[in-house]
Amino acid sequence: GITLSGVFKRFGATEVIKGIDLAIEPGEFVVLVGPSGCGKSTLLNLVAGLETLTSGDIRIGAQVVNDVPPRDRDIAMVFQSYALYPTKSVRQNITFGMQTRHVPRDRQEAALDEFSRLLQIDGLLDRKPGQLSGGQRQRVAMGRALVRQPEVFLFDEPLSNLDAKLRIEMRTEIKKLHQRLGKTVVYVTHDQIEAMTLASRIAVMDNGHIRQFAQPHEIYEDPVDLFVAGFMGSPP
Ligand code: ATP
Ligand code: MG
Repeated sequence: GITLSGVFKRFGATEVIKGIDLAIEPGEFVVLVGPSGCGKSTLLNLVAGLETLTSGDIRIGAQVVNDVPPRDRDIAMVFQSYALYPTKSVRQNITFGMQTRHVPRDRQEAALDEFSRLLQIDGLLDRKPGQLSGGQRQRVAMGRALVRQPEVFLFDEPLSNLDAKLRIEMRTEIKKLHQRLGKTVVYVTHDQIEAMTLASRIAVMDNGHIRQFAQPHEIYEDPVDLFVAGFMGSPP
């Protein structure tokens, strides 16, 4: 799991994360929601190690990772912009991370094979990202995260660039993948239905604070305050 204790983050004089305590169980699917600018991406970046804390502790499993560089955290992150290497083939995009970690070639091949079939991109391995649709690119980004087989996945609005139909398809696939692999997931979205269908628990964030952290039905039926009610709750 992931544990945040008294986490603060300031950019210059601006405090963006204002004291967050959050305990995410191993295998949980936590969806992080909240208005634009409330600090969701910053929080993910802190867990990934792409930003450094101002104060507090972040643990992954039992280990305090505050000073652990991103590549040594057992984490894979999928961004809204998939950030694929444009000049590399799909195959190279997926295996690149394993190559730099000196994963043995047969293990690379096995992982590539398993996950490209699972994501239905096994027929596209020799193409370049420019020759793929948005949904296919999204799957390649997902494949690249999956082959590393980390304990923790961080998703920052991974489906927001897709059309409605693909979004629903990918949502279902992500849910199936999570059920099958049982890894810990933190997933940021602006899509309420995505939040309600994917989450084991939803964290509602506002202005650098977590307002409520509870199961979807609890958030919906029993929001702690007007902010949560307005954002995620049932109509009055
Ligand atoms: P969105 O839903 O629009 O993606 P968010 O909840 O992900 O929003 P963040 O990207 O975490 O929001 O940003 C939180 C606040 O921190 C914003 O006010 C933003 O302008 C500020 N911020 C983010 N990164 C930096 C930075 N590197 N330097 C200064 N301020 C930053
Ligand atoms: Mg963001």
